[in-house]
Amino acid sequence: MSAQRKFDGIWFEPAPWVNGRYVRSDATRCIVNPATGAKLAEVHFANPQIATEAIDGAVVAQRSWKELSAFERGNILKTIAAELIEQKDKLATLLTAEQGKPYWQSVGEIDYAASFFQWYGEEARRISGRIASHPQRDREFVIEHLPIGVVGWITPWNFPLAQGAKKIAAALAAGCTGVWKPAESTPLIALAMAPLFRSAGVPDGVVQIIPGEGPQIGSIMIDHPEVRCISLTGSKATGSKLMAGAASQIKRVSLELGGNAPFIVLPDADLDFAVDQLVQLKLFVTGQVCVTANRIFIPEDLHEQVLERLIGKLESSKVEDGLNDSGLYRVDAGPLIHSQACIGVDALVEEACDSGAKIAYRYVFGKGVRSKSEGSFYAPTVLSHVVDDMRISKGEIFGPVFAIHTYRTVDEVIQRANGVSQGLAGYVYGTDLSVCRRVARRLDVGIVGVNEWRPLKAEIPFGGIKESGIGSEGGTEGLSEYMRVRVISFPTD
Ligand code: ADP
Repeated sequence: MSAQRKFDGIWFEPAPWVNGRYVRSDATRCIVNPATGAKLAEVHFANPQIATEAIDGAVVAQRSWKELSAFERGNILKTIAAELIEQKDKLATLLTAEQGKPYWQSVGEIDYAASFFQWYGEEARRISGRIASHPQRDREFVIEHLPIGVVGWITPWNFPLAQGAKKIAAALAAGCTGVWKPAESTPLIALAMAPLFRSAGVPDGVVQIIPGEGPQIGSIMIDHPEVRCISLTGSKATGSKLMAGAASQIKRVSLELGGNAPFIVLPDADLDFAVDQLVQLKLFVTGQVCVTANRIFIPEDLHEQVLERLIGKLESSKVEDGLNDSGLYRVDAGPLIHSQACIGVDALVEEACDSGAKIAYRYVFGKGVRSKSEGSFYAPTVLSHVVDDMRISKGEIFGPVFAIHTYRTVDEVIQRANGVSQGLAGYVYGTDLSVCRRVARRLDVGIVGVNEWRPLKAEIPFGGIKESGIGSEGGTEGLSEYMRVRVISFPTD
Protein backbone atom coordinates (compact mmCIF):
# COMPACT_ATOMS: atom_id res chain seq x y z
CA MET A 1 0.00 0.00 0.00
CA SER A 2 1.63 3.25 -1.04
CA ALA A 3 1.81 6.19 1.32
CA GLN A 4 -0.72 8.87 0.56
CA ARG A 5 -0.60 12.51 1.44
CA LYS A 6 -3.76 13.04 3.42
CA PHE A 7 -3.21 16.35 5.13
CA ASP A 8 -0.89 19.17 4.41
CA GLY A 9 2.61 17.92 5.14
CA ILE A 10 1.57 14.77 7.00
CA TRP A 11 1.99 11.40 5.36
CA PHE A 12 0.02 8.50 6.67
CA GLU A 13 -2.47 5.88 5.54
CA PRO A 14 -5.96 5.71 7.01
CA ALA A 15 -5.49 2.06 7.90
CA PRO A 16 -4.24 -0.10 10.80
CA TRP A 17 -0.52 0.14 11.46
CA VAL A 18 0.83 -3.32 12.24
CA ASN A 19 4.46 -4.44 12.43
CA GLY A 20 5.67 -1.31 10.68
CA ARG A 21 3.24 -1.09 7.80
CA TYR A 22 -0.27 0.02 7.07
CA VAL A 23 -2.67 -2.84 6.29
CA ARG A 24 -6.02 -2.65 4.58
CA SER A 25 -9.12 -4.41 5.83
CA ASP A 26 -12.51 -5.17 4.36
CA ALA A 27 -14.39 -2.68 6.58
CA THR A 28 -14.10 1.09 6.41
CA ARG A 29 -15.60 4.01 8.26
CA CYS A 30 -16.05 7.57 7.09
CA ILE A 31 -14.43 10.14 9.37
CA VAL A 32 -15.96 13.61 9.25
CA ASN A 33 -15.08 17.06 10.49
CA PRO A 34 -17.66 17.71 13.23
CA ALA A 35 -17.66 21.45 12.51
CA THR A 36 -18.73 21.08 8.89
CA GLY A 37 -19.80 17.51 8.29
CA ALA A 38 -17.14 17.33 5.54
CA LYS A 39 -15.62 13.93 4.90
CA LEU A 40 -11.96 13.72 5.96
CA ALA A 41 -11.10 10.13 5.18
CA GLU A 42 -12.38 6.62 4.74
CA VAL A 43 -10.54 4.66 7.42
CA HIS A 44 -9.92 0.93 7.31
CA PHE A 45 -10.99 -0.66 10.58
CA ALA A 46 -9.12 -3.64 11.99
CA ASN A 47 -10.93 -6.97 11.72
CA PRO A 48 -10.30 -9.77 14.25
CA GLN A 49 -7.46 -11.19 12.17
CA ILE A 50 -5.63 -7.85 11.98
CA ALA A 51 -6.18 -7.21 15.68
CA THR A 52 -4.78 -10.63 16.59
CA GLU A 53 -1.78 -10.13 14.30
CA ALA A 54 -1.16 -6.79 15.95
CA ILE A 55 -1.14 -8.35 19.42
CA ASP A 56 1.07 -11.24 18.27
CA GLY A 57 3.49 -8.72 16.72
CA ALA A 58 3.61 -6.73 19.96
CA VAL A 59 4.45 -9.95 21.83
CA VAL A 60 7.43 -10.58 19.56
CA ALA A 61 8.55 -6.93 19.69
CA GLN A 62 8.44 -6.90 23.49
CA ARG A 63 11.21 -9.49 23.73
CA SER A 64 13.77 -7.07 22.31
CA TRP A 65 12.18 -3.79 23.48
CA LYS A 66 12.49 -4.78 27.13
CA GLU A 67 16.13 -5.72 26.59
CA LEU A 68 17.06 -2.17 25.57
CA SER A 69 18.55 -0.23 28.41
CA ALA A 70 16.22 2.19 30.13
CA PHE A 71 18.53 4.93 28.89
CA GLU A 72 17.98 3.82 25.27
CA ARG A 73 14.23 3.56 25.67
CA GLY A 74 14.18 6.95 27.36
CA ASN A 75 16.07 8.55 24.49
CA ILE A 76 13.56 7.23 21.98
CA LEU A 77 10.72 8.66 24.04
CA LYS A 78 12.42 12.04 24.24
CA THR A 79 12.89 11.97 20.46
CA ILE A 80 9.15 11.37 20.04
CA ALA A 81 8.54 14.45 22.21
CA ALA A 82 10.89 16.53 20.08
CA GLU A 83 9.26 15.36 16.83
CA LEU A 84 5.80 16.13 18.15
CA ILE A 85 6.89 19.67 18.91
CA GLU A 86 8.50 20.01 15.51
CA GLN A 87 5.39 18.86 13.67
CA LYS A 88 3.00 20.62 16.01
CA ASP A 89 1.30 22.92 13.52
CA LYS A 90 0.49 20.24 10.98
CA LEU A 91 -0.66 17.76 13.60
CA ALA A 92 -2.80 20.40 15.29
CA THR A 93 -4.61 21.14 12.04
CA LEU A 94 -5.42 17.47 11.60
CA LEU A 95 -6.52 17.17 15.23
CA THR A 96 -8.87 20.13 14.95
CA ALA A 97 -10.31 18.89 11.66
CA GLU A 98 -11.03 15.51 13.17
CA GLN A 99 -12.02 16.40 16.73
CA GLY A 100 -13.44 19.91 16.38
CA LYS A 101 -11.58 21.67 19.19
CA PRO A 102 -10.17 25.14 18.43
CA TYR A 103 -6.73 25.10 16.85
CA TRP A 104 -5.03 26.62 19.93
CA GLN A 105 -6.40 23.79 22.05
CA SER A 106 -5.04 21.24 19.57
CA VAL A 107 -1.64 22.91 19.79
CA GLY A 108 -1.97 22.65 23.57
CA GLU A 109 -2.88 18.98 23.30
CA ILE A 110 0.23 18.27 21.26
CA ASP A 111 2.41 20.08 23.81
CA TYR A 112 0.67 18.12 26.55
CA ALA A 113 1.21 14.81 24.73
CA ALA A 114 4.88 15.70 24.17
CA SER A 115 5.28 16.46 27.88
CA PHE A 116 4.41 12.83 28.70
CA PHE A 117 6.97 11.45 26.25
CA GLN A 118 9.51 13.87 27.68
CA TRP A 119 8.70 13.09 31.32
CA TYR A 120 8.65 9.31 30.87
CA GLY A 121 11.76 9.54 28.71
CA GLU A 122 13.47 10.96 31.78
CA GLU A 123 11.69 8.73 34.25
CA ALA A 124 12.66 5.50 32.43
CA ARG A 125 16.20 5.88 33.78
CA ARG A 126 14.95 5.99 37.33
CA ILE A 127 13.24 2.58 37.24
CA SER A 128 15.13 0.46 39.71
CA GLY A 129 14.67 -2.47 42.04
CA ARG A 130 16.07 -2.88 45.54
CA ILE A 131 17.70 -5.35 47.85
CA ALA A 132 15.93 -6.27 51.06
CA SER A 133 17.31 -8.10 54.05
CA HIS A 134 16.43 -11.74 54.54
CA PRO A 135 15.73 -13.10 58.03
CA GLN A 136 18.41 -15.71 57.34
CA ARG A 137 22.03 -14.46 57.57
CA ASP A 138 23.31 -16.11 54.39
CA ARG A 139 20.56 -14.84 52.06
CA GLU A 140 19.18 -11.62 50.60
CA PHE A 141 16.13 -10.65 48.59
CA VAL A 142 16.51 -9.00 45.21
CA ILE A 143 13.32 -7.12 44.27
CA GLU A 144 13.01 -6.52 40.55
CA HIS A 145 10.58 -4.14 38.82
CA LEU A 146 9.76 -5.56 35.41
CA PRO A 147 7.45 -4.64 32.52
CA ILE A 148 4.05 -6.27 32.82
CA GLY A 149 4.08 -7.36 29.14
CA VAL A 150 1.84 -6.47 26.23
CA VAL A 151 -0.77 -3.79 26.86
CA GLY A 152 -4.05 -2.87 25.19
CA TRP A 153 -4.51 0.93 25.14
CA ILE A 154 -8.08 2.04 24.46
CA THR A 155 -8.65 5.76 24.11
CA PRO A 156 -11.57 8.18 23.66
CA TRP A 157 -12.24 10.97 21.17
CA ASN A 158 -11.95 14.06 23.40
CA PHE A 159 -8.12 14.02 23.60
CA PRO A 160 -7.39 11.55 20.81
CA LEU A 161 -3.66 12.16 20.94
CA ALA A 162 -2.94 13.02 24.57
CA GLN A 163 -4.87 10.11 26.08
CA GLY A 164 -2.82 7.74 23.94
CA ALA A 165 0.42 9.58 24.73
CA LYS A 166 -0.08 9.28 28.50
CA LYS A 167 -0.52 5.53 28.28
CA ILE A 168 2.02 4.74 25.59
CA ALA A 169 4.82 6.88 27.06
CA ALA A 170 4.54 5.24 30.49
CA ALA A 171 4.22 1.73 29.09
CA LEU A 172 7.15 2.08 26.70
CA ALA A 173 9.33 3.53 29.46
CA ALA A 174 8.48 0.48 31.57
CA GLY A 175 9.54 -1.87 28.75
CA CYS A 176 6.06 -2.85 27.57
CA THR A 177 4.77 -2.91 24.02
CA GLY A 178 1.15 -2.73 23.00
CA VAL A 179 -1.79 -2.18 20.75
CA TRP A 180 -3.49 1.22 20.60
CA LYS A 181 -7.16 1.31 19.69
CA PRO A 182 -8.25 4.90 19.17
CA ALA A 183 -11.91 5.92 19.33
CA GLU A 184 -14.05 5.16 16.29
CA SER A 185 -14.60 8.83 15.41
CA THR A 186 -10.99 10.07 15.86
CA PRO A 187 -8.50 7.51 14.51
CA LEU A 188 -6.61 9.86 12.15
CA ILE A 189 -4.32 11.62 14.62
CA ALA A 190 -3.36 8.22 16.08
CA LEU A 191 -2.55 6.83 12.63
CA ALA A 192 -0.55 9.97 11.82
CA MET A 193 1.67 9.08 14.78
CA ALA A 194 2.91 5.88 13.12
CA PRO A 195 5.55 7.47 10.86
CA LEU A 196 6.56 9.76 13.70
CA PHE A 197 7.09 6.79 16.05
CA ARG A 198 9.15 5.09 13.39
CA SER A 199 11.36 8.08 12.63
CA ALA A 200 11.92 8.56 16.38
CA GLY A 201 13.37 5.04 16.51
CA VAL A 202 10.46 3.00 17.88
CA PRO A 203 11.03 -0.52 16.47
CA ASP A 204 8.28 -2.09 14.38
CA GLY A 205 5.68 -3.91 16.46
CA VAL A 206 6.32 -1.92 19.65
CA VAL A 207 3.32 0.36 19.11
CA GLN A 208 0.60 -1.13 16.91
CA ILE A 209 -2.25 1.21 16.02
CA ILE A 210 -5.55 -0.37 15.13
CA PRO A 211 -8.69 1.68 14.59
CA GLY A 212 -11.70 -0.51 15.13
CA GLU A 213 -14.99 -1.14 16.86
CA GLY A 214 -14.59 -0.96 20.64
CA PRO A 215 -16.50 -4.07 21.73
CA GLN A 216 -14.90 -6.24 19.04
CA ILE A 217 -11.29 -5.16 19.64
CA GLY A 218 -11.90 -5.10 23.39
CA SER A 219 -12.96 -8.73 23.46
CA ILE A 220 -9.93 -9.75 21.38
CA MET A 221 -7.70 -8.01 23.91
CA ILE A 222 -9.53 -9.72 26.75
CA ASP A 223 -9.26 -13.18 25.18
CA HIS A 224 -5.62 -12.97 24.07
CA PRO A 225 -3.55 -14.54 26.87
CA GLU A 226 -0.49 -12.39 26.12
CA VAL A 227 -2.28 -9.09 26.77
CA ARG A 228 -1.50 -8.58 30.45
CA CYS A 229 -2.98 -5.15 31.02
CA ILE A 230 -5.80 -3.17 29.45
CA SER A 231 -5.75 0.56 29.96
CA LEU A 232 -8.93 2.40 29.08
CA THR A 233 -9.98 6.01 29.15
CA GLY A 234 -13.69 5.96 28.48
CA SER A 235 -17.11 5.52 29.97
CA LYS A 236 -18.05 3.67 33.12
CA ALA A 237 -20.09 1.20 31.05
CA THR A 238 -17.03 0.25 28.98
CA GLY A 239 -14.85 0.16 32.10
CA SER A 240 -17.12 -2.32 33.85
CA LYS A 241 -17.32 -4.53 30.76
CA LEU A 242 -13.55 -4.61 30.42
CA MET A 243 -13.08 -5.24 34.12
CA ALA A 244 -15.54 -8.13 34.05
CA GLY A 245 -13.89 -9.58 30.95
CA ALA A 246 -10.38 -9.15 32.30
CA ALA A 247 -11.37 -11.08 35.40
CA SER A 248 -11.47 -14.39 33.52
CA GLN A 249 -7.69 -14.31 32.94
CA ILE A 250 -6.88 -12.08 35.94
CA LYS A 251 -5.56 -9.28 33.74
CA ARG A 252 -4.70 -5.93 35.17
CA VAL A 253 -6.98 -3.05 34.23
CA SER A 254 -6.28 0.63 34.50
CA LEU A 255 -9.41 2.70 34.10
CA GLU A 256 -9.88 6.44 33.69
CA LEU A 257 -13.65 6.86 33.60
CA GLY A 258 -16.19 9.60 33.92
CA GLY A 259 -16.15 12.46 36.40
CA ASN A 260 -18.71 14.78 37.96
CA ALA A 261 -16.52 17.59 39.19
CA PRO A 262 -17.81 20.11 41.70
CA PHE A 263 -16.66 23.68 41.06
CA ILE A 264 -17.00 25.38 44.43
CA VAL A 265 -16.99 29.14 44.61
CA LEU A 266 -16.40 30.07 48.26
CA PRO A 267 -18.08 33.17 49.74
CA ASP A 268 -14.84 35.19 49.72
CA ALA A 269 -13.82 34.26 46.14
CA ASP A 270 -12.73 36.88 43.64
CA LEU A 271 -15.79 36.49 41.42
CA ASP A 272 -14.27 37.97 38.27
CA PHE A 273 -11.35 35.57 38.50
CA ALA A 274 -13.50 32.54 39.42
CA VAL A 275 -15.95 33.15 36.57
CA ASP A 276 -13.15 33.74 34.08
CA GLN A 277 -11.57 30.43 35.06
CA LEU A 278 -14.93 28.65 35.04
CA VAL A 279 -15.62 29.76 31.48
CA GLN A 280 -12.18 28.62 30.34
CA LEU A 281 -12.64 25.25 32.03
CA LYS A 282 -16.16 24.70 30.79
CA LEU A 283 -15.59 25.79 27.19
CA PHE A 284 -12.38 23.76 26.95
CA VAL A 285 -13.10 21.06 24.34
CA THR A 286 -16.67 22.40 24.51
CA GLY A 287 -17.29 20.78 27.88
CA GLN A 288 -16.42 17.31 26.62
CA VAL A 289 -13.81 16.63 29.28
CA CYS A 290 -14.06 14.21 32.20
CA VAL A 291 -12.55 16.76 34.60
CA THR A 292 -14.69 19.70 33.51
CA ALA A 293 -16.93 21.51 36.01
CA ASN A 294 -20.13 19.48 36.04
CA ARG A 295 -21.80 20.99 39.11
CA ILE A 296 -21.11 24.65 39.82
CA PHE A 297 -21.76 25.55 43.46
CA ILE A 298 -22.35 29.23 44.22
CA PRO A 299 -23.21 30.77 47.62
CA GLU A 300 -26.92 31.59 47.57
CA ASP A 301 -26.42 35.32 48.04
CA LEU A 302 -23.85 35.55 45.21
CA HIS A 303 -26.03 33.78 42.66
CA GLU A 304 -27.12 36.89 40.74
CA GLN A 305 -23.64 38.40 40.69
CA VAL A 306 -22.14 35.19 39.32
CA LEU A 307 -24.83 34.81 36.66
CA GLU A 308 -24.34 38.37 35.49
CA ARG A 309 -20.57 37.90 35.11
CA LEU A 310 -20.96 34.50 33.51
CA ILE A 311 -23.47 35.65 30.93
CA GLY A 312 -21.31 38.68 30.14
CA LYS A 313 -18.35 36.40 29.43
CA LEU A 314 -20.33 33.96 27.31
CA GLU A 315 -21.86 36.72 25.23
CA SER A 316 -18.41 37.72 24.06
CA SER A 317 -17.22 34.12 23.46
CA LYS A 318 -16.73 32.68 20.02
CA VAL A 319 -18.18 29.26 19.36
CA GLU A 320 -17.41 28.19 15.82
CA ASP A 321 -15.28 26.05 13.55
CA GLY A 322 -12.02 25.42 15.41
CA LEU A 323 -10.08 25.92 12.18
CA ASN A 324 -11.16 29.60 12.14
CA ASP A 325 -8.84 30.02 15.13
CA SER A 326 -5.55 31.75 14.40
CA GLY A 327 -2.96 33.75 16.26
CA LEU A 328 -5.04 36.89 15.72
CA TYR A 329 -8.50 35.45 16.14
CA ARG A 330 -9.29 33.17 19.05
CA VAL A 331 -12.14 30.65 18.94
CA ASP A 332 -13.27 29.68 22.45
CA ALA A 333 -15.17 26.50 21.66
CA GLY A 334 -15.94 24.28 18.69
CA PRO A 335 -18.70 21.78 17.90
CA LEU A 336 -19.59 18.66 19.87
CA ILE A 337 -18.17 15.44 18.48
CA HIS A 338 -21.34 14.47 16.57
CA SER A 339 -25.00 15.36 16.34
CA GLN A 340 -25.98 12.50 18.65
CA ALA A 341 -23.96 14.21 21.37
CA CYS A 342 -26.05 17.39 20.88
CA ILE A 343 -29.22 15.37 21.24
CA GLY A 344 -27.93 13.77 24.46
CA VAL A 345 -26.95 17.11 26.04
CA ASP A 346 -30.26 18.65 25.03
CA ALA A 347 -32.18 15.80 26.61
CA LEU A 348 -30.39 16.43 29.92
CA VAL A 349 -31.24 20.14 29.76
CA GLU A 350 -34.88 19.52 28.82
CA GLU A 351 -35.29 17.00 31.59
CA ALA A 352 -33.77 19.39 34.14
CA CYS A 353 -36.10 22.17 32.96
CA ASP A 354 -39.09 19.86 33.35
CA SER A 355 -38.04 19.43 36.98
CA GLY A 356 -37.67 23.13 37.74
CA ALA A 357 -34.30 24.24 36.33
CA LYS A 358 -34.30 27.47 34.31
CA ILE A 359 -32.40 28.48 31.22
CA ALA A 360 -30.75 31.71 32.36
CA TYR A 361 -28.83 32.18 29.11
CA ARG A 362 -28.37 30.55 25.76
CA TYR A 363 -25.60 31.57 23.37
CA VAL A 364 -26.61 33.05 20.05
CA PHE A 365 -24.44 31.92 17.17
CA GLY A 366 -22.87 34.78 15.28
CA LYS A 367 -21.91 35.39 11.72
CA GLY A 368 -18.52 33.80 12.21
CA VAL A 369 -19.95 30.31 12.30
CA ARG A 370 -19.11 28.58 9.08
CA SER A 371 -21.42 25.80 7.99
CA LYS A 372 -23.06 25.64 11.39
CA SER A 373 -26.04 23.96 9.82
CA GLU A 374 -23.94 20.92 8.94
CA GLY A 375 -21.83 20.95 12.09
CA SER A 376 -22.77 19.49 15.46
CA PHE A 377 -22.78 22.73 17.45
CA TYR A 378 -24.50 23.14 20.81
CA ALA A 379 -25.12 26.62 22.17
CA PRO A 380 -23.43 27.25 25.52
CA THR A 381 -26.22 27.36 28.06
CA VAL A 382 -26.46 28.59 31.65
CA LEU A 383 -28.90 26.55 33.67
CA SER A 384 -29.94 27.92 37.07
CA HIS A 385 -32.01 26.32 39.85
CA VAL A 386 -30.32 22.98 39.33
CA VAL A 387 -30.68 20.56 42.23
CA ASP A 388 -28.86 17.40 43.25
CA ASP A 389 -31.46 14.81 42.33
CA MET A 390 -31.75 15.84 38.67
CA ARG A 391 -30.10 13.49 36.15
CA ILE A 392 -27.90 16.37 34.99
CA SER A 393 -26.32 16.41 38.47
CA LYS A 394 -25.65 12.70 38.63
CA GLY A 395 -23.32 12.18 35.69
CA GLU A 396 -21.29 13.92 33.01
CA ILE A 397 -23.06 16.52 30.89
CA PHE A 398 -20.31 16.47 28.24
CA GLY A 399 -21.37 19.71 26.66
CA PRO A 400 -21.15 23.47 27.28
CA VAL A 401 -23.91 23.60 29.89
CA PHE A 402 -23.18 25.57 33.06
CA ALA A 403 -25.33 23.84 35.70
CA ILE A 404 -25.62 26.28 38.61
CA HIS A 405 -26.40 25.01 42.10
CA THR A 406 -26.62 27.25 45.16
CA TYR A 407 -25.57 26.47 48.73
CA ARG A 408 -25.75 28.06 52.19
CA THR A 409 -22.85 26.67 54.23
CA VAL A 410 -19.41 25.31 53.47
CA ASP A 411 -20.15 22.05 55.28
CA GLU A 412 -23.27 21.63 53.18
CA VAL A 413 -21.44 22.18 49.89
CA ILE A 414 -18.71 19.67 50.77
CA GLN A 415 -21.29 17.05 51.62
CA ARG A 416 -23.16 17.66 48.38
CA ALA A 417 -19.97 17.76 46.33
CA ASN A 418 -19.10 14.29 47.66
CA GLY A 419 -22.61 12.92 47.38
CA VAL A 420 -22.21 11.38 43.92
CA SER A 421 -20.91 8.06 42.68
CA GLN A 422 -17.94 9.60 40.82
CA GLY A 423 -14.77 11.10 42.25
CA LEU A 424 -12.36 12.42 39.65
CA ALA A 425 -11.67 16.16 39.93
CA GLY A 426 -12.80 19.12 42.00
CA TYR A 427 -12.20 22.87 42.02
CA VAL A 428 -12.17 25.31 44.90
CA TYR A 429 -12.08 29.09 44.44
CA GLY A 430 -11.55 31.39 47.39
CA THR A 431 -9.28 34.04 48.85
CA ASP A 432 -8.55 32.59 52.29
CA LEU A 433 -6.19 29.77 51.42
CA SER A 434 -6.56 28.01 54.76
CA VAL A 435 -10.29 27.61 54.06
CA CYS A 436 -9.56 26.50 50.49
CA ARG A 437 -7.13 23.89 51.82
CA ARG A 438 -9.65 22.59 54.35
CA VAL A 439 -12.31 22.25 51.66
CA ALA A 440 -9.89 20.65 49.16
CA ARG A 441 -8.80 18.08 51.74
CA ARG A 442 -12.37 16.99 52.32
CA LEU A 443 -13.24 16.39 48.66
CA ASP A 444 -13.46 12.72 47.67
CA VAL A 445 -11.73 13.09 44.32
CA GLY A 446 -8.41 12.26 42.65
CA ILE A 447 -7.31 15.84 41.99
CA VAL A 448 -8.28 19.30 43.22
CA GLY A 449 -7.45 22.60 41.59
CA VAL A 450 -7.40 25.44 44.11
CA ASN A 451 -7.79 28.66 42.14
CA GLU A 452 -6.59 26.70 39.10
CA TRP A 453 -8.67 25.22 36.31
CA ARG A 454 -6.13 22.91 34.67
CA PRO A 455 -3.89 21.23 37.23
CA LEU A 456 -3.18 18.10 35.17
CA LYS A 457 0.49 17.68 34.24
CA ALA A 458 2.86 14.84 33.29
CA GLU A 459 4.66 15.09 36.63
CA ILE A 460 1.69 14.08 38.75
CA PRO A 461 -0.58 11.04 39.01
CA PHE A 462 -4.10 11.53 37.78
CA GLY A 463 -6.84 9.03 38.50
CA GLY A 464 -10.25 8.78 40.03
CA ILE A 465 -11.85 7.06 42.94
CA LYS A 466 -15.28 5.41 43.23
CA GLU A 467 -16.82 4.91 39.78
CA SER A 468 -14.28 7.26 38.19
CA GLY A 469 -11.72 4.53 37.87
CA ILE A 470 -8.78 2.52 39.07
CA GLY A 471 -5.12 3.42 38.78
CA SER A 472 -3.23 6.53 37.76
CA GLU A 473 -1.72 8.15 34.72
CA GLY A 474 1.23 10.50 34.93
CA GLY A 475 3.97 10.79 37.52
CA THR A 476 5.94 7.88 38.92
CA GLU A 477 2.65 6.25 39.89
CA GLY A 478 1.66 6.07 36.22
CA LEU A 479 4.71 3.96 35.52
CA SER A 480 3.81 1.34 38.11
CA GLU A 481 0.58 0.59 36.20
CA TYR A 482 2.79 -1.11 33.63
CA MET A 483 5.20 -2.88 35.96
CA ARG A 484 5.21 -6.09 37.93
CA VAL A 485 7.43 -7.24 40.72
CA ARG A 486 9.60 -10.34 40.92
CA VAL A 487 11.50 -11.24 44.07
CA ILE A 488 14.50 -13.57 44.05
CA SER A 489 15.78 -15.01 47.29
CA PHE A 490 19.55 -15.28 46.80
CA PRO A 491 22.18 -17.06 48.77
CA THR A 492 24.84 -14.45 49.59
CA ASP A 493 27.76 -16.83 49.32
P1 ADP B 1 -17.60 7.43 25.11
O1 ADP B 1 -19.02 7.21 25.49
O2 ADP B 1 -17.00 8.60 25.76
O3 ADP B 1 -17.34 7.34 23.65
P2 ADP B 1 -16.66 4.77 25.38
O4 ADP B 1 -16.27 4.06 26.63
O5 ADP B 1 -17.82 4.25 24.64
O6 ADP B 1 -16.82 6.27 25.81
O7 ADP B 1 -15.44 4.84 24.37
C1 ADP B 1 -14.11 4.99 24.77
C2 ADP B 1 -13.26 3.98 24.04
O8 ADP B 1 -13.68 2.69 24.45
C3 ADP B 1 -13.40 4.03 22.53
O9 ADP B 1 -12.15 3.76 21.93
C4 ADP B 1 -14.36 2.89 22.25
O10 ADP B 1 -14.21 2.32 20.97
C5 ADP B 1 -13.95 1.89 23.30
N1 ADP B 1 -14.98 0.90 23.64
C6 ADP B 1 -16.32 1.05 23.63
N2 ADP B 1 -16.92 -0.10 24.02
C7 ADP B 1 -15.92 -0.99 24.28
C8 ADP B 1 -15.88 -2.35 24.73
N3 ADP B 1 -16.99 -3.04 25.00
N4 ADP B 1 -14.66 -2.92 24.91
C9 ADP B 1 -13.54 -2.23 24.66
N5 ADP B 1 -13.51 -0.96 24.24
C10 ADP B 1 -14.69 -0.34 24.05
